[in-house]
Amino acid sequence: KKNPIPKPPWMKRIIPGGDKYTAIKAKLRELNLHTVCEEAKCPNIGECWSGGETGTATATIMILGDTCTRGCRFCAVKTSRTPPPPDPEEPAKVADAIAAWGLDYIVITSVDRDDLADQGSNHFAETVEKLKARKPNMLVEALVPDFRGDKDCVQRVARSGLDVFAHNIETVEELQGVVRDRRANFQQSIDVLKMAKSMAAPGTLTKTSIMLGCGETPAQVIRTMERVKDAGVDVMTFGQYMRPTKRHMPVSEYVTPDAFEDYRKIGMDMGFRYVASGPLVRSSYKAGEFYIKSMID
Ligand code: SF4
Ligand code: SF4
Repeated sequence: KKNPIPKPPWMKRIIPGGDKYTAIKAKLRELNLHTVCEEAKCPNIGECWSGGETGTATATIMILGDTCTRGCRFCAVKTSRTPPPPDPEEPAKVADAIAAWGLDYIVITSVDRDDLADQGSNHFAETVEKLKARKPNMLVEALVPDFRGDKDCVQRVARSGLDVFAHNIETVEELQGVVRDRRANFQQSIDVLKMAKSMAAPGTLTKTSIMLGCGETPAQVIRTMERVKDAGVDVMTFGQYMRPTKRHMPVSEYVTPDAFEDYRKIGMDMGFRYVASGPLVRSSYKAGEFYIKSMID
């Protein structure tokens, strides 16, 4: 499958720099911590690590290994039905490293672990708990799998002391089967977000994200936003799908910056607490800066 559409000029990265960025980068080398930001060569690293206008530096790390039990058509993560067992020391090691790092907002995410009895939910919750114990004022977002809709798994993470519970629905309702692994679906993901909202401490935000350029129509995007809003979700983000390799699903179109801005406005009018929307936006894009700004407004 070819991807015949050339990349438009707005898909370029900003060169990172600034004091905070430099300090965060230097400290990371001592810590033996691997970030999604660097490994995925994320174009937003300069903006996220510098903390922007609020000085709230954000980064994303992945736990529970580098091998996923699922195989979504847009995703470059390795797949296996039987990944190696998780490192039981990881929650403590990761919590120590993040607490020492000098970040303000951390997004902790993971591969899906359908092979584990608890789907990795205890490991996830323990990581958040340990981090909050070491650094209570650090803002923590957990970006979690759907846990196959399991209430106990969702509850464990939702009550771990996090500030933001995020789970990505990835695409509009109509394209779920084309884009995501067959074990995922729209209703299950909506239910996970609803459950998390009802179980988490008051004030905890819920958040989800979709990629555009997978073949969706604008009407489908807006309908999806309404369904997400009805589920009580506080934050929504929109970014351009980028094909990681030729073996992955092709890009159907490059959505223009103006169209992204329209979705942002529509979302704000619907009453989301904040909406991040742009060609290079990832679900964790400047998450700390946006979080702080939305709390001030
Ligand atoms: Fe990638 Fe997540 Fe899908 Fe696994 S579940 S293949 S990590 S998007
Ligand atoms: Fe890291 Fe996410 Fe920001 Fe990219 S968007 S630099 S992955 S925090």
